[in-house]
Amino acid sequence: MKKQYPLLILALILAACQALPVGNQPNQETIQEQQSDTAEPFDFTATLDASDWEDLRKFEVNLIPSAAPILDEMKSAPYYKLSFELDKELKNVRGLVEVRYVNQSSDVLDSIVFQLFPFVYGGTVDLGDILVNQEPAKLSMEENVPVVNVMMDGGLAPGDSCVITIPFTSSIPREMGGNYGLYGYFDETVVLDGFYPLLALYDEGEWHLNITSHNGDIKYEEMSFYDVTAKIPADMNAVTTGQAISEQNDGDMKTIHYLAGPVREYYFAGSEKFVSIEEQVGDTVLISTSVEGTEDAIQHALEIGKASMEVYSEHFVTYPYAELDVVGTPMMALGMEYPGVSTVANSLYDLNGATNGTPNRVYLDSVVAHEMGHQWFFNLVGSDQIEEPWLDESITQYLVRLFYEDYYGQAAAESYKDSWDGRWARVDYADIPIGKPSYEYESSEYSPIVYGRGPYFIEALEDKMGDDVFADALRDYVETYQWKIADSDEFKSSMESVCDCDLTTLFDEWVTP
Ligand SMILES: [Zn+2]
Repeated sequence: MKKQYPLLILALILAACQALPVGNQPNQETIQEQQSDTAEPFDFTATLDASDWEDLRKFEVNLIPSAAPILDEMKSAPYYKLSFELDKELKNVRGLVEVRYVNQSSDVLDSIVFQLFPFVYGGTVDLGDILVNQEPAKLSMEENVPVVNVMMDGGLAPGDSCVITIPFTSSIPREMGGNYGLYGYFDETVVLDGFYPLLALYDEGEWHLNITSHNGDIKYEEMSFYDVTAKIPADMNAVTTGQAISEQNDGDMKTIHYLAGPVREYYFAGSEKFVSIEEQVGDTVLISTSVEGTEDAIQHALEIGKASMEVYSEHFVTYPYAELDVVGTPMMALGMEYPGVSTVANSLYDLNGATNGTPNRVYLDSVVAHEMGHQWFFNLVGSDQIEEPWLDESITQYLVRLFYEDYYGQAAAESYKDSWDGRWARVDYADIPIGKPSYEYESSEYSPIVYGRGPYFIEALEDKMGDDVFADALRDYVETYQWKIADSDEFKSSMESVCDCDLTTLFDEWVTP
């Protein structure tokens, strides 16, 4: 996530204030509530096909040909069949999520845990009757944590699988609030970050439930598959994770079928004001979208999106999906990353304007390039964005320098680096470790350290190892951990194995808390 002064200040204030509103806590009552009183009965099962959970070949449509072999290695990944419908007033999203979950750990799992992010964003979630393998499930709630534990009768043994079915209705807030305003209906645009019950990640003996962190990103997810059916107003143009493979109009609504995967989550944005342009880049269609009237900025975002995609594909591995979107949306941050979608604050699409004295055109370059970098460091190579935010954010800041160097030249890259210095200067260049969990930073420290000091550490590594060796090592790290998850220790080992050197002192100086 990219946050820059002065929007940063606003975002940090809000982030610091994003404790869950008391009235919105999920409780047994809301969990067991079937439908809101006004909702029509609905049945999405007709839109869900009964195809074999094991058949992943259909997801080839979302991958470039050279990436398709990964499907053979992902047979145990979570598999979501998600159907949802936006009501005409855009006040609620109602849907059904069916998840095939395979226990990939060596532990017997007593429960499977789902996170309910709309509560964090100022919305609510009502859940219908939850089923496990078509039988009513026992649930367990935790106080003040917006999650639902779906109990496994007798435990889920390693290697065993189950199918969990959860009907849900999530309200769509009109007030921009929790977690940078990434969820709601604003400026005639609906943005749906984490709107459905989303699996928590289980590893090393625990479920990771970090969705109330007050700084930065709040999700940590594993690669999954999504077969999505979306029923939305016919005049709405949508930007989503994955690939639209069919569209059917039905009066004033339309139904779109998407396939996405392997991806870490599914994101949806829609507006009747959206206009798009696109360009084929290798095996990928790059699509640039924002509201009508900002066509110059949409064109510029396409150019920067293409350039940065080509730079990172050249340095690391080719962008693996058949589609990539850059979209301007309302938000209180300057950008946010999703699998296959780079979102950018629509305020930057006013190319004649400026933000804190910096022309929006300049901001748009660095924000697009930063969010595009997350397609490699966040999505393709996953990491714990809460426990080790530097692993995607500091590296992504460094990637933007690579983009400037390769696209605009050395002078522009040096000029861009002033933004690192400006951030770090806000804490008087304090040598606070970049490797702390996001929630352990003061709000005033998080961005200066992770986004300001952090990329200087990557440069220090580059200096220590030598430019060419470091470039090889970073590519090697991406190739080794693509589609997986890496942590700081693995990053360090990965670097050391290429440079044949000991980097402990350098990590102690910069990273280790
Ligand atoms: Zn970022």
